[in-house]
Amino acid sequence: MSPFLKLPYELFAHILSFLDHSQSIYQCLTCHPTLYTLFYENETFWYDLCINKHINYKHPAITWRQFVLSGEMNRVCPHLTMGLFSQISAKQDILYLLSSASSPQANYRSICLHPECDHNGNDQSERCHYDRAKHPVHLQISLTHLFNVYCETCGRLLGETEPSEKWFVHAWVQALVSTPLTEKLPLTNPLLRLRRQIEINLFSQPGGSYIIEKSWCDAWIQFLKGDRPFPPGRLNNKPLLNVNDGSLLTGLQHGVDFELVSSKSKDYIERLYGVTGGFLSEAVLPHDTCVSRLLTTFYDRPFKGQSIKL
Ligand SMILES: [Zn+2]
Ligand SMILES: [Zn+2]
Repeated sequence: MSPFLKLPYELFAHILSFLDHSQSIYQCLTCHPTLYTLFYENETFWYDLCINKHINYKHPAITWRQFVLSGEMNRVCPHLTMGLFSQISAKQDILYLLSSASSPQANYRSICLHPECDHNGNDQSERCHYDRAKHPVHLQISLTHLFNVYCETCGRLLGETEPSEKWFVHAWVQALVSTPLTEKLPLTNPLLRLRRQIEINLFSQPGGSYIIEKSWCDAWIQFLKGDRPFPPGRLNNKPLLNVNDGSLLTGLQHGVDFELVSSKSKDYIERLYGVTGGFLSEAVLPHDTCVSRLLTTFYDRPFKGQSIKL
């Protein structure tokens, strides 16, 4: 008889959550048919393992069992919490105030992402805040810090690789910068001006490697030019794709059906706007497709001549 069968459920789940390798957890369950029957199909069990590791989020397309057995549970930042989604409005208010205050000496402005904290500052003050309050996760904003989410304890940018962490960061940042924040801001607000400046910089970088749907690109350019008060919504690339296999439709024309953006723009669009249908590289275009660089001149209207400070 497996010694695990004699343990109370809470203790059993607690012990298994300490195992660093998902394969070890699987082996524990398969060491006795009763354990396997009780727990393998039991989502509550897999969720409890994650909660014991202080992780309460995962990509919505996978199960808690898949999250654990893929090893993601041991790789994602345990300092993000779903409670942050219920604090969007409060963080928007801080972002609104933050964007109105200039801080010329700072590399970037920051907002603490502890759900119950309203601290905001810059790169010089956030380390002090971490030492004092032990709140490890913050949002970084500047022309070169494109709404980055950074964890001091993990010592890295979040949302770069692991699918569940990426989903969390993208979904949260998109919620933060979308309605109602952008719709209640006048075009003259420093936050929207900063966004435009960031996106103009990205757009102007050389290289076009990823395909985006034309009408969304037009709306984006209108926003960058100042001809449209708010940024466009989520990018939808599905009209360019075959319904059956997601491959690129044939006969599409550059400049009519799609435009090309750089990999940095692609990453930013994914993070700030979100994308339906995913991105396809220009490598999938037929060899005879006529592709030319999209030339657009942006004027910082109606703020021409003013510098952007945040
Ligand atoms: Zn962390
Ligand atoms: Zn804090």
